[in-house]
Amino acid sequence: MEPTASLARISGIGPSFINRLKNLNLVTVEDLIYHFPFRYDDFSQNLTTPEIKIGEKVTLQGEIWSIKNIFTRTRKILTTAILNDGRGTVELVWFNQSWLIKNIKPGDKIQVSGKTSRKGTKVTIVMPQWEKLENLQSSAANHQPIHTGRLVPIYPETVGLTSKWLRFKISTLLPTVLPKIVDPLPEEIKMNMLSLPEALNQIHFPQSFEDVQRAQERLAFDELFYIQLASQQRKSVWQQKTLIQPLKVEEKLLDSFVSSLPFALTFAQQRVIKEIAQDLKKPTPMNRLVQGEVGSGKTVVAAAIIYLAYTNKLRSVIMAPTEILAFQHFATLSRLLQPYGIEIGIYTGSKKFTKNNESIPDVIVGTHAVLSEKLDLNNVGLVVIDEQQRFGVEQRGLIRSRTKSPHFLTMTATPIPRTVALTLYGDLDLSIIDELPKGRMPVNTHFVPHKKRADAYKFVSEHVQRGEQIYIITPLIEASETLVSAKAAKVEFDRLKKDIFPNFRLGLLHGKLKPKEKEAVINDFKDHKIDILISTSVVEVGVDVPNATIMVTEGAERFGLAQLHQFRGRVGRGTEQSYAFLFTENEDSNVVSRVKNLEKIHDGLKLAELDLKIRGSGEIFGTLQSGRWNLKIASLDDLKLIEQTKEAAYKVLSSSPNLDKYPLLQAKLASATQEIFPD
Ligand code: ADP
Ligand code: MG
Repeated sequence: MEPTASLARISGIGPSFINRLKNLNLVTVEDLIYHFPFRYDDFSQNLTTPEIKIGEKVTLQGEIWSIKNIFTRTRKILTTAILNDGRGTVELVWFNQSWLIKNIKPGDKIQVSGKTSRKGTKVTIVMPQWEKLENLQSSAANHQPIHTGRLVPIYPETVGLTSKWLRFKISTLLPTVLPKIVDPLPEEIKMNMLSLPEALNQIHFPQSFEDVQRAQERLAFDELFYIQLASQQRKSVWQQKTLIQPLKVEEKLLDSFVSSLPFALTFAQQRVIKEIAQDLKKPTPMNRLVQGEVGSGKTVVAAAIIYLAYTNKLRSVIMAPTEILAFQHFATLSRLLQPYGIEIGIYTGSKKFTKNNESIPDVIVGTHAVLSEKLDLNNVGLVVIDEQQRFGVEQRGLIRSRTKSPHFLTMTATPIPRTVALTLYGDLDLSIIDELPKGRMPVNTHFVPHKKRADAYKFVSEHVQRGEQIYIITPLIEASETLVSAKAAKVEFDRLKKDIFPNFRLGLLHGKLKPKEKEAVINDFKDHKIDILISTSVVEVGVDVPNATIMVTEGAERFGLAQLHQFRGRVGRGTEQSYAFLFTENEDSNVVSRVKNLEKIHDGLKLAELDLKIRGSGEIFGTLQSGRWNLKIASLDDLKLIEQTKEAAYKVLSSSPNLDKYPLLQAKLASATQEIFPD
């Protein structure tokens, strides 16, 4: 069986199973082989009945003496069986599996695994795993048991797709698929790691936990190695591009621009501008990511660079993810750049500086509307993308294809831990603005226990009466059946309006509103026609209302710490002391202590690193909204492995830049790159 074959081609997997497999994103044979167990039941203790200790996980072999269904008083069906292993008997009990009496008959020899318990004088195993010994003898998996008597793999499941089913299918596929899998890793990189087929076999059916570890080691290496290979190769391809035109950076001009600003730049801003200016002098196009907290002053950095491009007679484009942000940038840049005679035009869905391209301004500020075919971008020397992770993959691809090869500057407020930058963003150079302009007061942050909720609302009321504005963030839009305790914006809006703040003007904002409706709500909030804005996390995107002083977050445990930090970045923009209140749905000590980190830590990057430690890579993928590879085994916190794979990729690419020497890697990378860097 070829790894790329569709699972639909396998006999015994019908359309209903194909659908269930799709729920787990499993479509091809390879997908299924790469569906790894998340834990193992240790049923490797093979015992006889006299050796059994109560409460242990054991495996027994024996003959079924009897099996029957019993109806309980509560109308449930129990299936009970007596198993004899020649030295004694145990009772087996299953719930809701009445069909078992058709599969297991008296006289059958079976092997069972499970945890023992005592019922009166009897030893019982409740819900044991089982398999018939005759099947063991003929099984494809080398006569090895797969459900019992070993480390039994437990998989991520979905409705109608059990670990037992997955285990069985995988065990029958492995012997036919693994011989078709050739290990693409060259010997000098593989060293003493397992080969790929060995690792894939062992991750599913290990003989010991050491086997598991060795398999994980190899598979984790692969995950990070291909990302490194793809990003390093991408970087070198990028650097081979010839610039539309090399830039002359006149330090004097830059200095005079900076000194004409209405405020003194922070040291971090100055450093980052220098780093970018160094890039601009090179004959190859820049591809740099500037990361800086909300309010760290990224726009003015962009303005300085746009000014440099202008002094080289190059046009710039700056793209923002929403109209509101685009207009905000338009206003800021006009203020900073117009004094130099620089023409600035806005280009969004609703407002365009020109209909027919007659006169294209020096600087185009816009949304993704900028990418429309109508606008001629050939002459663009600098592209600035604000909040890059908010743009879709297609849009990021489009901007590359619609321009020649300009300098690229992307900006994000999302903190990216160093280990993540080294892997997922390895193709970009990174500059960090790690300093806020002077005089910013940190947002006074408090976890609020349930019994203090009323006090918090009182505090909010007092501040509204003083003319200040408030955000309340909820995890959901509408009430959910499954997440009963989670607050939903719509429900909260109604409740607060009716019961808590009947005299204030409340607004509701969420992702299901049309862009126009969203904008109207945000503008009402900006114009202080709304006192309290109840919103889902959509508000995170650059809304700037200096009069807002309190950020309340419901269900804070449902968000990452870095994301909570971004929420509170919405307040503290004016002269008043600002506050963030964090409500949680449950008050378990680990939940509370995680959330309380925000009371002490005011550095977004530190919080992102904590997220990575506490919640793992998934959180990072969530906040970066990255299409880039999902890691199943490797951790983005594993600095050692990251360095190791980075070196390995470097070694391979320096001996063969286009991988001609390694055709297997080349092929593997061609398919992986699509997944890692879809843009
Ligand atoms: P962000 O990094 O979130 O995009 P902005 O560029 O919007 O931040 O800047 C936030 C605010 O801080 C703006 O009002 C800007 O004019 C101001 N600002 C930027 N740099 C400085 C500075 N060095 N000193 C004082 N204020 C600054
Ligand atoms: Mg900004």
